[in-house]
Amino acid sequence: MSNQETKPLLPAANPSTWLGVMGGGQLGRMFAQAAQAMGYKVAVLEPSADCPAGQLAERLVEAGYTDAAGLDALASQCAAVTTEFENVPAASLSRLAQSVFVAPNAHGVSVAQDRIAEKSFFVACAGKSGVMPAPHKVIASNEDVDAIPGDLLPGILKTVRMGYDGKGQVRVRTREDVRAAFEAMGRVTCLLEKMLPLAYEVSVLTARGHDGASVVYPIAENVHRDGILFTTTVPGPNVSADCARKAQDAARAIVAELGYVGVLCIEFFVLADGSLVVNEMAPRPHNSGHYTIDACVTSQFAQQVRAMARLPLGDCRQHSPSVMLNILGDAWFDGDSNVVREPAWDQVLALPGANLHLYGKDDPRRGRKMGHVTFVAPTLAEARRSFEQACAILGIAA
Ligand code: ATP
Ligand code: MG
Repeated sequence: MSNQETKPLLPAANPSTWLGVMGGGQLGRMFAQAAQAMGYKVAVLEPSADCPAGQLAERLVEAGYTDAAGLDALASQCAAVTTEFENVPAASLSRLAQSVFVAPNAHGVSVAQDRIAEKSFFVACAGKSGVMPAPHKVIASNEDVDAIPGDLLPGILKTVRMGYDGKGQVRVRTREDVRAAFEAMGRVTCLLEKMLPLAYEVSVLTARGHDGASVVYPIAENVHRDGILFTTTVPGPNVSADCARKAQDAARAIVAELGYVGVLCIEFFVLADGSLVVNEMAPRPHNSGHYTIDACVTSQFAQQVRAMARLPLGDCRQHSPSVMLNILGDAWFDGDSNVVREPAWDQVLALPGANLHLYGKDDPRRGRKMGHVTFVAPTLAEARRSFEQACAILGIAA
């Protein structure tokens, strides 16, 4: 038994105390909504005053993510602190942890925010998880480019840090492509990943409590467009029972091996032959888990509240089939026009099973995540019908 397991468990942080969140984006906003619904007060640390989570939180600590005074103000007010974005400086979480319970902790976050550490971790726990990441190689010098084995190409060159929504990624066919892309990225350390023939993509949301108990949500099938999540469908039309079981077993093993506390989302590729490849993990609630708000007993945000407040984890059961559609700023523009107009929400909300979530952003830009709609129905076919009609109303190709 490790030291951690023999330590006495902290008591629960009861509703009416404060919960803190690093970051003020939409994930922090939906976290605040769940926490407030349970009676907690929420403090958000974020440098910009007008942010999706700051609009709702009882307190906004307007400070940079590494600002010592801001971090100390958050720690002294709160019974527990979490993060809503992956690139939160790990050192800031360590500082907070000196005086307040932090979930997830700096270790879990630092593994997830560095693609090299993340891939090495996946390889190291493959014996327990049963899944491997895509073949890959670190590219940090010209010599590394010279040493690329031929079977890693064609591939995708990804920056090691700060990638999201497909940013910091270049598709490469030849060694010369890699050299050029590495130069174009300013020679920052990158990871070259072999391009795999994906049949489809899935993700699994899991949560682990500080007592080591864990729960796993149903597997979600995701479609990306231009590197950004487009839809999440649960149950996934392509997902076999065998694939779902393997991905859920892998998620349980990964979260336990990491000694993680909180909500974690793991993305997988499923290849044409049905095999599963682990892609990456997000140390927080995830866009592909938004369906849980309207389709599951406990949403991923309520689950994060329970985990960080050291309460029993909630029921992950899905009560309705669902299709989640991300709403990007593009929906505010008619075709190629530059004129901003409000989408026809009245028509979208007239569709059976529609649940609209907008993030309070008043500057729609193409490619910017503005909100999402989740369609729930007694059958997946009905949920899909509403989704298709919504796409037609919003000018999105279904
Ligand atoms: P996000 O953080 O938004 O999930 P990201 O920018 O961190 O994305 P990845 O998840 O690594 O990037 O990749 C984005 C998408 O690119 C994947 O969902 C998948 O569609 C495609 N992709 C990434 N790596 C590979 C690969 N090795 N082979 C084939 N397709 C890939
Ligand atoms: Mg991803």
